[in-house]
Amino acid sequence: EVQAMKKTVVLYPGLGVGHLVPMVELAKVFLKHGVAVIVALIDPGSKSTDFSAAVARAKTSNPSVDFHVLPPPPPPAPVDSNSQQVAASTHHVTKIFKLLTAMNAPLRDFLRSLPSVDALILDMFCADAQDVAAELELPVYYFYASGAADLAIFLNLPSRVAGNTAKMKELGDSVITFPGVPPFKASDLPNEVIGDGEALPAIVGMFDRMSRADGILVNSFDSLETRAVSALRDGLCVPNRATPPVYCVGPLVSGGGGGDKEHECLRWLDAQPDKSVVFLSFGSMGTFSGKQLLEIAVGLEKSGERFLWVVRTPRSPDFSYGDPLPEPDLDALMPEGFLERTKDRGLVVKSWAPQVEVLRHRATGAFVTHCGWNSTLEGITAGLPLLCWPLYAEQRVNKVHIVEEMKLGVEMRGYNQEVVKAEEVEEKVRWVMASEGGEALRERVAAAKEGAAEALKEGGSSHLAFVQFLEDLDTATVQD
Ligand code: UDP
Repeated sequence: EVQAMKKTVVLYPGLGVGHLVPMVELAKVFLKHGVAVIVALIDPGSKSTDFSAAVARAKTSNPSVDFHVLPPPPPPAPVDSNSQQVAASTHHVTKIFKLLTAMNAPLRDFLRSLPSVDALILDMFCADAQDVAAELELPVYYFYASGAADLAIFLNLPSRVAGNTAKMKELGDSVITFPGVPPFKASDLPNEVIGDGEALPAIVGMFDRMSRADGILVNSFDSLETRAVSALRDGLCVPNRATPPVYCVGPLVSGGGGGDKEHECLRWLDAQPDKSVVFLSFGSMGTFSGKQLLEIAVGLEKSGERFLWVVRTPRSPDFSYGDPLPEPDLDALMPEGFLERTKDRGLVVKSWAPQVEVLRHRATGAFVTHCGWNSTLEGITAGLPLLCWPLYAEQRVNKVHIVEEMKLGVEMRGYNQEVVKAEEVEEKVRWVMASEGGEALRERVAAAKEGAAEALKEGGSSHLAFVQFLEDLDTATVQD
């Protein structure tokens, strides 16, 4: 029967908003290629309102995608009622790993309950689910939600660390080299890698497991990251073992939607001239201190340019992952009279904007970004030059790739100081919006946008990579 021949894959995106969003886009690619797909979701409970909101948006905008919410893990696994156990490890990354490991049991039950499943596709944080795949004899793949250059660095990390986690911290500001990427300062590696080292063994373990998967799908495209893609394919990143096949199938960028289409900021943009507005947005978790918000406001005002700025409430130092943030009190956070003085050319949006729609709006002219990979791809595919202001996770290395390798952005120099000064905000915003250098950058991004469209169309590199992946999956399934 034809129906029975159809393949089914299960996608397992873990817990990050920036990991869920592109995984849902991947689900739609599978559907387009005639493969049935289920997105298995973890219920974050009431803890993470950001993630719950992202799940709700994904469901409304993608009625064709089948979502399945896994039940919470059984006691005494460390979630919900066992929050004491979770609290025993304080590092936010370690906590997430513990929760994900505990989810193996409900994931296994769910996979067993399906009439047939042909592959499990994991987010990087879900590496422990490789045990489930092994037990059920399923091919296991990753969907890497960041770029190929990041992957080149992180697949190399286990051999670089070689069991000595303390040495990463000692690197300080020294220049470090990895196959496939330009040399960069060790201090641009994620805090979790160069910081206190508490989460480093788990991170190293995760990438070590990833290097043993059947293959890695990457949300990027060959022409964007030529050098890193070659290094990965030539096996330079994982020494002493064959690198799994790497399939660049992106850019998978959300088409927006989810009830955001009528957001007030889009109507505001409708009234602005073409390419006249600089958009500032810092991912699903980015926040600034009150002091930094004031510097940004002063810089924007002095620049004289039009702006659309997403502002969040500053976090208290002891926040933990998923803690809900109250709506910002703009009157208290902005300089005296700022909103009134700039009301003809600026709009401050509280907490969240429909970013993809904003970036694609004809009135938007540049993007001040925290360099999260989804934001990076969304900016590039909208043809916007990037002002790079990395904040957390792997964003500082993304900044290196964007500025030095892709040459699609410039950095906010103060990103690694206590604050980026108003003067720099003013200078960079003016530069990108109204200088020859800014115009040249815009042309480069326009070319990259073309490259993205080429990659995705029938016969393009990303399309062909996905077809190749499906063929390889066939072989993997037959062997089982
Ligand atoms: N996003 C949005 N509105 C906001 C902030 C973020 O729609 O105000 C979306 C953004 O378009 C992207 C995702 O949230 O798809 C953030 O992912 P990214 O990888 O850029 O950053 P992360 O949140 O993982 O740091």
